[in-house]
Amino acid sequence: MVIFAPIFIVLFLFVAWKMYSPSTRNCRWRLNRALNKDGKTYQRCVTCGVEVMTEDGAPPKVCLAGQAEPQD
Ligand SMILES: [Zn+2]
Repeated sequence: MVIFAPIFIVLFLFVAWKMYSPSTRNCRWRLNRALNKDGKTYQRCVTCGVEVMTEDGAPPKVCLAGQAEPQD
């Protein structure tokens, strides 16, 4: 079991790095009601330029940069 310890340490550091990375922390979501569609709320991160359509109108809790291709 000792051999698994480094794996958990790396996993913990990875999660901590993802949670506290500047790119995520600096995310600022702006909604634009003019671009709402099908009951979804248009949101755009002014920091990384990612655009998303959210169901509940609340901004994403994590930065979606890297998961979605920027429009421009
Ligand atoms: Zn962002």
